[in-house]
Amino acid sequence: MRPRIRGGRTTVLAALLSLALAAPIAAAQAQNAPSAGPTAGPAQQAELPHQYEVTGLATRTERTALAATGVSIDEVHARAVVITATRAQATAVRQLGHTLRKLPDPPGFATSPHKPRGKDFPAGYTNYHTYDEATKEIDALVAKHPDILSKQVIGTSHEGRNLLALKLSKNVTKDEQEPEVLFTAHQHAREHLTVEMALYLLNEFTSKYGSDSRITKMLDSREIWIIPDLNPDGGEYDIASGSFRSWRKNRQPNAGSRAVGTDLNRNWDFKWGCCGGSSSSPSSETYRGASAASAPEVQVVSKFVHDRKVGGKQQITAAIDFHTYSELVLWPFGFTNDDTGDGMTKDEHDTFATLGKNMAATNGYTPEQSSDLYITDGAIDDWLWGDQRIFAYTFEMFPSSFGSGGFYPKDSVIPKETSRNREAVLRFLEIADCPYRAIGKEGQYCKGS
Ligand SMILES: [Zn+2]
Repeated sequence: MRPRIRGGRTTVLAALLSLALAAPIAAAQAQNAPSAGPTAGPAQQAELPHQYEVTGLATRTERTALAATGVSIDEVHARAVVITATRAQATAVRQLGHTLRKLPDPPGFATSPHKPRGKDFPAGYTNYHTYDEATKEIDALVAKHPDILSKQVIGTSHEGRNLLALKLSKNVTKDEQEPEVLFTAHQHAREHLTVEMALYLLNEFTSKYGSDSRITKMLDSREIWIIPDLNPDGGEYDIASGSFRSWRKNRQPNAGSRAVGTDLNRNWDFKWGCCGGSSSSPSSETYRGASAASAPEVQVVSKFVHDRKVGGKQQITAAIDFHTYSELVLWPFGFTNDDTGDGMTKDEHDTFATLGKNMAATNGYTPEQSSDLYITDGAIDDWLWGDQRIFAYTFEMFPSSFGSGGFYPKDSVIPKETSRNREAVLRFLEIADCPYRAIGKEGQYCKGS
């Protein structure tokens, strides 16, 4: 299915499929500079990237060409997109013949250079969890529910923060013969709502085990893994000045460049850099890194997934990676426009599409193949499926568009927009023992498994 365009041919975007999945644009030098600290002056602030509406393009080919400039595409509409770009990048896009309109900056954006180094989110956002707050909440949940929840430190980020994997299951200390399901969040720094999604699932599963029959059944029969924060360095950097920085990448320096950061969701080791769906430029928002899995965060999670192989068989059968924004359910592949081909049979594609639409019917998101928006390469779901044969989806959460908050919706939306995915997650868990059941081919593919 092709990108959904709601609203017909109105000039501006009546409807959107936005996508934080892609979002490149070289970040400003100042912002990229390792030393651009909390007291960055007005000149440096002027270099923070902004969002722009770009009109005059309507096809995924045109969008892929736009992404190739290194900007990030944040929303996709019928005849327009929203991108993140620095002023210089915006100029470059204009020179391609596109019309750009700068959108208002997020609340508190670069307005308070003299605030003390941020210990928390700005006003209106304080119910979002900082890394420390999330860690404390997780530790409290583990202490309260040691029988069904356990925590592992699976590695560290570039700046040395712990990367956590939480396991939820009955008999949690044992590795039982049960289908395993993985939920990951926060590859992209500014997509803070995804950490809240992970915390929601942890709270929901632990608090309802034993009282909610579906949750109880799932914890009794599955091993659920939640990696709540893949990019803690980027997330903390995004709020550290007291204003949002619209930061996307991790905080890893790049040799020979002042530009900081790799786009984690272009760094996974499957078809890495193959197809024009990422950038080789360190200043780009979608910089793919110096080599596949060059980001420590990607290395850590890749190893974690590899280690879930027992006797050569991958125990994880299904995975969802949470992003914001655009309200989409996406499935592989992103690196090719083809629906089927090497690594994707018709039955596999049909399973992805049927299950994806089934989940989207519960949360009102738009279901489609990732490449319907534009080409991406090195994304986690392509790696999880292409390399590990895990049925992997990307959820782009609330909101649907810039006008509803973009990357920075107020914290008041957290309860509604996390619980909105409850039914989709439960259905996903329930079918994780045999995703082919979605197309009625359980007998063909899952017998004796
Ligand atoms: Zn994202």
